[in-house]
Amino acid sequence: MKPKIHPEYKEIKVICSCGNTFATSSTLGKELHVEVCSSCHPFYTGKQKIVDTAGRVEKFRQKYTKKKTAAKPAKEASA
Ligand SMILES: [Zn+2]
Repeated sequence: MKPKIHPEYKEIKVICSCGNTFATSSTLGKELHVEVCSSCHPFYTGKQKIVDTAGRVEKFRQKYTKKKTAAKPAKEASA
């Protein structure tokens, strides 16, 4: 390799949102922040994890539970 034309490829620290840190090799030259890693990704953990950045899933859940509870007493009243 020619000197001075290649970026430095060295070990960097990766920090996950779950708190896990590990090392990888990159030309980035600084710490890398990630949202999921191999120890918290649902594929590896077997648990479901919804990446809910805009709160859309929570909104849907609230709407759904509201409808569900509202429909229940109406059914009982008619019976
Ligand atoms: Zn993680």
